[in-house]
Formats: sequence, structure tokens, C-alpha cells
Amino acid sequence: MAQDHHDTTHLIHHPYQPPAGFDSPQPGVFKASTVYFPTVAAMRQREWKDKSAYTYGLHGTPTSYLLEERLCALEGAQQCVLVPSGLAALATVALSLLKAGDEVLIPDNAYGPNKALAEGELQHFGITHRYYDPMHPADLASRINDRTRLVWLEAPGSVSMEFPDLIEQVRICQAQGVTCALDNTWGAGLAFKPFDLLGDGQLGVDISAHALTKYPSGGGDVLMGSITTRNTALHLKIKLCHMRLGMGVGANDVEAVLRALPSIGLRYAAQDRTARALAQWWQNQPQCAQLLHPAFAGTPGHAHWQAVCGAQGASAGLFSVMLDARYTQDQVDAFCNDLQLFRLGYSWGGPVSLVVPYALETMRSVWPAHLERGTLVRFSTGLESAEALVQDLAQSLSKNLPA
Ligand SMILES: *Cc1c(COP(=O)(O)O)cnc(C)c1O
Repeated sequence: MAQDHHDTTHLIHHPYQPPAGFDSPQPGVFKASTVYFPTVAAMRQREWKDKSAYTYGLHGTPTSYLLEERLCALEGAQQCVLVPSGLAALATVALSLLKAGDEVLIPDNAYGPNKALAEGELQHFGITHRYYDPMHPADLASRINDRTRLVWLEAPGSVSMEFPDLIEQVRICQAQGVTCALDNTWGAGLAFKPFDLLGDGQLGVDISAHALTKYPSGGGDVLMGSITTRNTALHLKIKLCHMRLGMGVGANDVEAVLRALPSIGLRYAAQDRTARALAQWWQNQPQCAQLLHPAFAGTPGHAHWQAVCGAQGASAGLFSVMLDARYTQDQVDAFCNDLQLFRLGYSWGGPVSLVVPYALETMRSVWPAHLERGTLVRFSTGLESAEALVQDLAQSLSKNLPA
């Protein structure tokens, strides 16, 4: 028995050293809660916020530091914090910067759960919120007051896809000295540079929050988020709150994102191309009352999309169609049910095309004047061929929504 005990001890306190000089396309995956220190003095001296070394798994590993660096390169940022989901990124930004008595401004077309957070926990903590019209910068400007501590920006709106005048919105926040945070999930660091909107290094957001769940993962199988900044003091505020909330990410999930990142540019471009082919097709269907895709001239805010993404610019593989008001919700639901390649499901950026019908009137404080009345359906394109997806749309359309 004593021998057994001794053997197991040798299994635990082993002499193995990870190989130096082993070089390969993908980095090693380092997993840890505990990180060893050589001496008590080293343990006492260790400053957890300093990324030149390691303290505890929750504060970072070589694997998580590497993903943070790559995301900084992608978004043009200097600091990054990883969190367990895109929504956790939005929540961590809010909890880092807001306290009782403060106010946060949120665009009325924002990602729904960000509004729910403001109406739930933030309200309970004595933090007020107001929704602004994303398409009228003057409305945003008029709502900023001496209690405003954070302005959320989103380009385009998650479901209705209108693109705001991001440049003017950032200018307003800067002129008023209010921190602005962009939900940059759609742009993904590819369609435009959130910290350098004009390309001259002069104008950018303070914070970019990103659902890595979407394009960076690309698999529909990982939940993760990031918060990037270009300001050490702002980063430390977020980092401290992140530590106190105990937000960690698993190394296997980090590895999945690291493995998918090299192909993000190709996937984004391919999904963009497919989405535009489908949007083009929808424009010619009599059932379509309004196409909502920021790269198309008729979509509200198209000129603002051009201003930050470029006239030949990129776009995520995501668009909505406002189906004519003569169709009932049941008919539209049947249209979605009968699609074979488009699956019913939330999120986007994965290999499979997805469809979701949205009841827009329950999501907005006011029905936007720039939207036709009708039933909205949002499509996200995966990696299937555009021809096969068009055929799928056509078969269900003729069956369920007669022209
Ligand atoms: C998906 C999404 C989020 C949330 O990401 P999760 O990882 O699903 O929590 C936030 N903002 C936008 C715009 C999104 O599309």
C-alpha cells in the first residue's frame, strides 16, 4: 500500500517539462486553475494584472492571452478581456462603468438582451436607461445629460438592420465626454475598424464588445465574448470588474476560437456574398415589402454603411425581409417551417443558414417611420451554395405565400 502511495505521488509530482522548440500551426492548449510559483516570495510579488506572467487560471493562461492578442490585432485594439458569452461582454461593460444614479443610453434597435439587462439588473441597482433613435444623431445628443456615463452603439441594428451614422454618434459622445461602447458583433473587426472609423487614427469608439460566438467561432458550437479597448485606465476598470465577477473562459473553447480565426476573413466574405445573392433575389419577389441589408441602396442608413465600410465594403451574411402586410403571421410561420436548408435557430456566423421570424412591434418602443408595416423575417447565411438556398426559399415561398 505504501508503495502504491509512493507511485501515485510520482504520477502527480512528475519531472515532465513541456517541449521547448516544438513549433506547429496551432498553439498548445494550456489549462489551469492552479499555477505554480517557485517560492513564497515569488507568490507574494506576483501582480495578477500584469500579463508578463501567470497567477491563477481565472486571470489568464498562455492560451487565453494568445486569443486576447489575436483579437486586439483583428479589431485594432490594445487590451482585451475574454468573457463566457457575447451577452456577458455587454453586461461586464455595464457593470464596470455604471453605479447607482448613473444613466446608460441604448439604441432602440439594440440586441434585445442588452435592453433586458437595462430593464432588469441595472434598474434594480438604481442605474437608469433611456432608448434613443439610432437614425437621428440629434436625438442621441439631446438625451445626454450629467448622469450619462455610457452610450451603447450598434451598427447595424440586430434585427431591422438599419445602419446608424456611427461617425456622428461617436463625435457626439466625444464632444460630451461620455464613454461609448460599440456592440461590434456584426462588423467582427472585418467590415470596419471600430477604433479608427475614418482610417486616419483620429476617431473611434472607446470600447468594442464582440460576441465571439458568431464569426470568430464560426462553428455554432462555442459561446464566448470579448471586450477590447485602447486605453489602459479603461481596460483596468473592466479587468477589475471582470475579476471580481469571476468571469472565466474554458481553454478548450478558447482553442476552438483560435483554430477558427485564421479562416474568419474567408468565411465572412463567403457568407457576405451568399447573403447578397439571396437579398438580390428577394428584391424581385412581390412578397417582399422591404429588403433590409445595409449594402443595398434602399435600406435605411445605406450611406452610413458606405461611410465606414466603403462603397465596395464588406457586410456580415445577415439580412431581413419585411414580408407584405397582407400575409398573416401563421402564413409566415408556415413559410419558415417549410424551409429545408435554413434551420430555425438563434445566433449566426456558423456553417448552417438560419431563419427567425421576429415580432418587431414587441421589440421597439415606437414603430420606426423608416420601416414598412409587415412581418419581419431575418436570415443568416451559412456556407451552403447560394443556388441551393434560393431554391429552398422559392419552394417554400410558392407553397405558403402566394404572390
Ligand atoms: C449574439 C449577439 C450577442 C450575444 O452573444 P452571445 O454569445 O449569444 O451571448 C450580442 N450582440 C449581438 C449583436 C449579437 O448578435
